Formats: sequence, structure tokens, C-alpha cells
Amino acid sequence: MSSSNIQKRRRIVIVGIPGVGKSTVVAKVVEMLNAKGKSSKVINYGTVMLEQAMKSHSVRSRDEIRKLSIEAQKNLQVHAASEISKMEGEFVIVDTHLFISTTEGFWPGIPMNVIQALMPTNLILVSAKVEEILGRRQKDATRSRDPATKELLEKELVAATSLLYASTVIAGCPALIVENHEGAVDEAALRIVTAISSS
Ligand code: AMP
Ligand code: MG
Repeated sequence: MSSSNIQKRRRIVIVGIPGVGKSTVVAKVVEMLNAKGKSSKVINYGTVMLEQAMKSHSVRSRDEIRKLSIEAQKNLQVHAASEISKMEGEFVIVDTHLFISTTEGFWPGIPMNVIQALMPTNLILVSAKVEEILGRRQKDATRSRDPATKELLEKELVAATSLLYASTVIAGCPALIVENHEGAVDEAALRIVTAISSS
């Protein structure tokens, strides 16, 4: 592979608070990249952590990880960062969180050591209206979501935006906020595809 091809490889870190529809948007992004003949690999950070947590902490579901001690979560987080940093591909998409709601408060999902390991070329925050997020969290019976109020979600959206901009300073890459409004997944995915396949 020539050096110019290597430079064009993308490591995309996609974040967003639970219920914004991140996984749905990511699936659409993959579909659109496929249609353009581009290969992509999606890595769910929580899944990588869960695989290890099942072995070391007898955790049974992804929603139990954030209930572990911060020390245990940190170890799982560092281990996952190291595993993910080894993964290669034309478009490597990492589906993760800027912060985790733990019993001790908001805890960073991509602190300095993690972002340095992931080396993103693009940081993308998927967002939506508070009402949309509330509705999506209530509808998702597959997950054990924390109970939410409008006030809490407003705080979470502010935290997400602030942490996104703070993260770009460390990553030195562009940050994009994409709104995933009701019935407009295609639009959100297209905005992301346009951003990551430019140049
Ligand atoms: P998800 O399926 O994206 O909701 O992720 C499941 C769980 O994995 C989250 O609730 C967190 O406990 C954990 N997780 C995901 N990404 C990170 C991260 N970057 N740092 C720490 N924990 C994470
Ligand atoms: Mg998800």
C-alpha cells in the first residue's frame, strides 16, 4: 500500500448519549459506505469491554459495566483501548461514549490516554432533541437504561458538547455534531459519510 493510501485511512470515533440513535446511524453509515464500494469496520467499545468483563468480573450485560467500581471500569477501558488500537481498516468506526453515568458521577469515556491510543481522524457527536431521546430510551426494551428526565438529558447534552470540543484539542482532529432527528436517519448518516470520505 502506498503512503498516500495509508494517510487516507480513517479512524472515526462516534459518540453520543444513550438514546440518540447512534447505533442506527452507524449501521446506515456502513450501508452507505458499502454502496460506494468502501470497506468499513465497526467496533462497539462497550462490546470489547463486555467480553473482558464477562471473564474478569462475571458481568452478564453491557448495562452492568457502569455499575462496577471506577477502578475496574478503568482497567476494562484501558484494555479495550489497547485492543481497538490494533484494529485496522479503510474506515474503522468506533462506537463509544464521551462520558459514562456512574454512581460517582459523569466519568470520561475517552480520557487522554484512551484518545491517544485510538488516534481518531474524525470525532463525531450524534445528537437529537431531548424529547426524541426520552422517547427512544423509553421504547428500547432491549436495554436497562437509567431513568431519565428532561432536565437530566439537558445536562447530558451540555456535558457531551463540552467534552467533544475538549477532546478535539487532544486528538487534533475535526469535530462534527450531527442531529439525528425523528425519521431523518438517512440525512444524519449522509452528513457523516460526506465528512469522512472527503479528500
Ligand atoms: P453501549 O452499548 O454503547 O451503550 O455501551 C455499553 C457500556 O459499555 C456503557 O454503558 C459503558 O459502561 C461501557 N463503555 C462504552 N464505551 C466506553 C468507554 N469509552 N469508556 C468506558 N466505558 C465504556
Ligand atoms: Mg449503542
